[in-house]
Amino acid sequence: MQYRSYGSLGYEVSLFGMGCMRLPRIVRGDHAEVDREKAYEMIRYAADHGVNYFDTAYGYHNLTSEEVLGEALEGGRREKVKIATKQPFGTMADLKTGSGKNILDNARRNLEATLKKLRTSYIDVYLIHNIGAYCWEDVKKNKIIEEYEKFRSEGLIRAIAFSYHGGYDCFREVLDFYDWGMCQIQQNFVDVEREATEEGIRHAGRKGCALVIMEPIRGGNLAFPPSQVKAIYDGYKLKRSAVEWAFRHLVNYSEVSTILSGVSTMEQLKEDIEIFSKPDMVAGCLSEEEKAILAKVRAQYESLRSIPCTGCEYCLPCPQGVNIPQVFGKYNDGVMFGTFEPARRSYMFQTRGRQDASLCVECKACEKKCPQHIEIVKELKTAHEKLKGWVE
Ligand code: SF4
Ligand code: SF4
Repeated sequence: MQYRSYGSLGYEVSLFGMGCMRLPRIVRGDHAEVDREKAYEMIRYAADHGVNYFDTAYGYHNLTSEEVLGEALEGGRREKVKIATKQPFGTMADLKTGSGKNILDNARRNLEATLKKLRTSYIDVYLIHNIGAYCWEDVKKNKIIEEYEKFRSEGLIRAIAFSYHGGYDCFREVLDFYDWGMCQIQQNFVDVEREATEEGIRHAGRKGCALVIMEPIRGGNLAFPPSQVKAIYDGYKLKRSAVEWAFRHLVNYSEVSTILSGVSTMEQLKEDIEIFSKPDMVAGCLSEEEKAILAKVRAQYESLRSIPCTGCEYCLPCPQGVNIPQVFGKYNDGVMFGTFEPARRSYMFQTRGRQDASLCVECKACEKKCPQHIEIVKELKTAHEKLKGWVE
């Protein structure tokens, strides 16, 4: 396993981090739950084969992911690994379902529940989950970072971090606002000009902030290339899986500390560990010829996109809270990769966070601001029809 340093925190972390958002599941009708025996086996296998970084969140798997991770690591493994987990602003602010009297009270009680589920007295890295332009002002106004500082001074958490979805401008504003222990962004070779962008990676590096990458294979989509893409990979002198190509793109950046992958089977986990244990999986691993191949593959994928949304976020904030670029991004993923399954799951989280397309009241305020002149209201309806209905 390759290891890297983690910003200024002094951690030495495995370059492959196990994401606990897509653990194996048992689905019965309209109900699904984690297949605990399989999940325990995978988490323990990872911890025993060099993986020392595990990422989970309060809400994953209907609030059970943290519990499964905690149970799997009990009995000696927890002390050997770093655990990162997260709480979204929307969960803190939900006073109906939350257990506290106000937002900060909720935040504390949710953290206490997390510690209990993880069977630990401290969390190595605690993130504000899914910051973006839609909630950043609320995070600041409600002094969430100050509350996290209290958690840290009490020894409940060891580092304060955030995960981010949105465009570069807001990412830079969030990153520059505070001395974060880590930032976590979506990046992969298809997204170099979207989300926090490649420039976001460089900026985190310049600041010396630990950088964790999520969605390296776009919810698994990049693992199954269409025939046009496969032909490009097959033309190269070295034979590699599409998954390895996607990981190599990120390994190439020296700024990256850990690349998370949400594995669902033992086969995927073993394959990932094998890839990240190769001696040449180091910064600068991509040759100019290999970069050109990935650029060609990206252009091929881009040609399959349906809605011309660039993710610029000029249409935000929507007064109803609809996260327009995220809805379009998920819809485009479904069209581009020929399957809506991963996009539907991701949309379910967006729906829970009250940012989905069903909230649109057709005021059309957003359409006036879109430089791409997208018929946003119409496209939101199309996207919602394709994306709704995931059973978690
Ligand atoms: S048209 Fe819909 S998505 Fe656009 S701003 Fe109005 S409510 Fe929001
Ligand atoms: S819908 Fe238009 S304004 Fe909104 S993010 Fe996409 S391109 Fe930008």
